[in-house]
Amino acid sequence: MIRCTKKFIFDAAHRIVGHEGKCKFLHGHRYECEVTFASKTLNEMGMVIDFGHIKEKLGTWIDDNLDHNLILAKNDIALIKQLKEGIDQSLYLMDNIPTAENIALHILNDICPKLFADEKAFCERIRLYESPTSYVEVYNKVS
Ligand SMILES: [Zn+2]
Repeated sequence: MIRCTKKFIFDAAHRIVGHEGKCKFLHGHRYECEVTFASKTLNEMGMVIDFGHIKEKLGTWIDDNLDHNLILAKNDIALIKQLKEGIDQSLYLMDNIPTAENIALHILNDICPKLFADEKAFCERIRLYESPTSYVEVYNKVS
């Protein structure tokens, strides 16, 4: 298997409803998202996948959806209601709690397969840093 990895950096806020510590409060992170593509063979250009395609597709998706946004669970009704009524705030709503694990799984399982359906390589791994010292890794079962 041949792999290539590209890194994206974005800033976003979230909160973990039900968390026993201070993560239950709104706070922000400078996320670093490493996306790894894998393929058993190289394409006709001698690449796993063109870095430019990753930037164009996933980089644009991250810019449009996550960067400088507030990532919340859809069931965080009280906060969503307040924000929608009170101020002009963009939201990215997830089906589940917006932990680093769930954000990484969302990118791996929901976003990448759609964005890269026409590529020979598949998204094998997402490593998502929530801070310089803390990250999660999720892997595609297909390998
Ligand atoms: Zn956090």
